[in-house]
Amino acid sequence: MPQDAFILEKDHLVPLLRRLGRDRRLVAPVRNGYGDTLYAPVTDLEEDGLDLEARPQNSLKGFFFPQRERLFSYTVAPDTGGGHRYAFETHLPEERPTVYFGVRSCDLFGVLYCDLVFLKGRRRDAYYQRRRAGAVFATLACHHPFAGCFCNATRTGPSLELGFDLQLFDLGDRFYVETGKPGGAEIVARWPAFFQPAGEPDRQAQFQAALEARGLFERKIHVDLAVGLLAGREPEGVVRRLSERCQDCGGCAFVCPTCTCFTITDQPLDEHHGERVRTWDACTFSGFTRMAGDANPVDGATERVRRRFLHKLRHDVARHGRPSCVGCGRCLGICFGGVDMARFVEMVCSFGNHHATDEDAR
Ligand code: SF4
Ligand code: SF4
Repeated sequence: MPQDAFILEKDHLVPLLRRLGRDRRLVAPVRNGYGDTLYAPVTDLEEDGLDLEARPQNSLKGFFFPQRERLFSYTVAPDTGGGHRYAFETHLPEERPTVYFGVRSCDLFGVLYCDLVFLKGRRRDAYYQRRRAGAVFATLACHHPFAGCFCNATRTGPSLELGFDLQLFDLGDRFYVETGKPGGAEIVARWPAFFQPAGEPDRQAQFQAALEARGLFERKIHVDLAVGLLAGREPEGVVRRLSERCQDCGGCAFVCPTCTCFTITDQPLDEHHGERVRTWDACTFSGFTRMAGDANPVDGATERVRRRFLHKLRHDVARHGRPSCVGCGRCLGICFGGVDMARFVEMVCSFGNHHATDEDAR
């Protein structure tokens, strides 16, 4: 059987990352000057403050599907017949082989979900595809869940069975490293001096760490129960109560690794030039489904909140066989109205209980 588990001494991590970053871009959780940890390109490992302890505030979504991107530009000029002649230039991004290091399990699952949206079927999104090409993921299993996380309930963490190229477990003075997809085995084969074969005590320590992490979630969020309840009935009271607290800010969708709504606008730059731009949108925005003439078939805050939660827990289950929430907990931190996925799931489950009262939905 080929060796598929290794030990990487912590002292060897920075030298390894330095080599990884020589011929490709390196993205990792970095603590900035304001104390915020974000997934960001690393250019100087000494200066950039690698932070493998905190949960990054952003997900990886923006690296493949940017918040704003120019799709093409156009030029319009008068033609000889008295009309106009248009010329278009497409602006596809460059392919940039990238190692995403220290990625949390839920965030890799977020990327795999975006793949379903942008790469499935015949009409692949060329912009996403270019950014996604050559991506290698080295995940870091969580040894202690962060506040608000519930990846145990969405089966997207705290460690993974598949999807990663490398998966690291923190064993104190060393990392236990599993290889998954070919990109991980290639890294080990290219720099073997950094990796020692894992022994039986290492395997036991990894097993113990993974088991303990699963038992440390304080809040039990019953996502499967809510999915089952939502398949059979509309949680009208829950949606109504939550919608009273939604302020239409879009924060929940923007931090969410699996929210992929966008809008496209043509933006004139001057009389003869312009560009078509794609930007993130959010289904909780009041103008999300507004049409020409100002008609809106899905008006009202109740419908907007309903759309957000049912998309993830009902429609994506029907389409892909599983909810598209990865339990990252980011919407719990961003929403000042408390309109988050964990609360929605709890309220749906509470309403499924005959003893629940309207007060439970407040
Ligand atoms: S649910 Fe919360 S975060 Fe999302 S749009 Fe409404 S107020 Fe903003
Ligand atoms: S709905 Fe909330 S918890 Fe679920 S993936 Fe999106 S931000 Fe994370």
